[in-house]
Amino acid sequence: MRDNSFLESVGRYFDAAAPHTGLPEGLLSQIKICNSVYQIYFPVKINGEVQVIEAYRAQHSHHRSPTKGGIRYSNHVNQEEVVALATLMSYKCAIVDVPFGGAKGGVRINPWEYTEEDLEKITRRYTTELIRRKFIGPAIDVPAPDYGTGPREMAWIYDTYRSFHPDDINAAGCVTGKPVSQNGVRGRTEATGRGVFYGIREACNQPDLMDRLGLNLGIKGKTMVVQGLGNVGSHTATISQDEGGVVIIGVSEVEGAIYNPDGFDIHDVIRHRAEHGSILTYPGAKAFGKEERRAVMEFECDILVPAALENQIDEHNAGNVKAKIVAEAANGPVTASGAAILAELGVVVLPDIYLNAGGVTVSYFEWLKNLSHMRFGRLQKRFDEQNYQRIVEQIETTTGRAISDRDRQMIIHGADEIDLVRSGLEETMITGFQGIYELYKEKEGIKDLRTAAFALAISKISNDYISLGIWP
Ligand code: GLU
Repeated sequence: MRDNSFLESVGRYFDAAAPHTGLPEGLLSQIKICNSVYQIYFPVKINGEVQVIEAYRAQHSHHRSPTKGGIRYSNHVNQEEVVALATLMSYKCAIVDVPFGGAKGGVRINPWEYTEEDLEKITRRYTTELIRRKFIGPAIDVPAPDYGTGPREMAWIYDTYRSFHPDDINAAGCVTGKPVSQNGVRGRTEATGRGVFYGIREACNQPDLMDRLGLNLGIKGKTMVVQGLGNVGSHTATISQDEGGVVIIGVSEVEGAIYNPDGFDIHDVIRHRAEHGSILTYPGAKAFGKEERRAVMEFECDILVPAALENQIDEHNAGNVKAKIVAEAANGPVTASGAAILAELGVVVLPDIYLNAGGVTVSYFEWLKNLSHMRFGRLQKRFDEQNYQRIVEQIETTTGRAISDRDRQMIIHGADEIDLVRSGLEETMITGFQGIYELYKEKEGIKDLRTAAFALAISKISNDYISLGIWP
């Protein structure tokens, strides 16, 4: 069976998990359906010519407020895609206990074909349309970056919202992923990739799972292939190499893919691409040109990380996947038909609705920072440092030995914002994995981690509906 669309694939994942929740049909239908979609066409003058731009914002579920999710700029944007992505956001937030409903926005443009000035015009006009329909606000719906957008676009959105709401003291909470200088939070840019790393590391720390795959316990020394070196892919790769001791042996980008079973330094590859405009000329690696770049999915490795767009592993290429673990850093990279084939091959898939939830988790921290109007760590950092200093002094007096300056600096360091954000993200990803893994092991009939993740998300959302008194 093949999937006609991304949305259909998400629907199939939902339907596979729903029977394991024991919830009534009506409640399940409410949790599955997308509550509202706003479709907009607006004119923008580009090079003296008026262009009509097609855009969307979908709010999948209002069981919690505000709704939350990124805004994508791509010429593949369409209503079904936005709805599918908004749906995944609801389940993602539920799994990592981020108290938002799911949403997603999309503007149907190729952002790389426009100048910065044009993009600013389009972004500000899109934001104005959202404001007009009350589809944005710190208590209503809070966008963030997604494919084709980043901190720059979020700053424009914030500025536009603020000028329409000069008396809203919480205006900064209308969007997340802002630059740190514009009320953003430290660690948001790396957050999705860092979360992907924590998630993979947690999976690799499960003895029964590693046994089943015939892999050693722990992430260190595992080989990894990354599809896409955008924000998510590049941070996943660099952090996995630097902090996890992973060996990166393959990567792909729009121009093609490279593979070297002995591994390469990912920082060096990224630097090479920035200097030469392509990864294909990277020395010592086997290169696959643009037309063959999908070969990246078939490279021999322990962990394959699709970190670009949806529908990358389907019924046509799933059978050729040689990785033991597929780590879904992107949203929807494996279709339901592709997933069925991977399951037959015994490949473990770490599902997107858990694995890439680090982005929205740190967005939640940013939103909290904006509502509290204070940087994390501001209250306790010095207090903690003075306490640690006293402890060090006590140890020195009792033992009669001086602690080296280097060790002293390390021990007395009080947490900065970045330390707290990373610690909160790590805790979230570990707890999230445990919730899914326990359900997977305990519930007979649940055969894979994605079904467990969907079942967990559906149950959590149903608790909200029930406690809201909407359901008896
Ligand atoms: N676009 C990201 C995602 O798909 C982040 C969403 C957010 O931070 O709200 O999860």
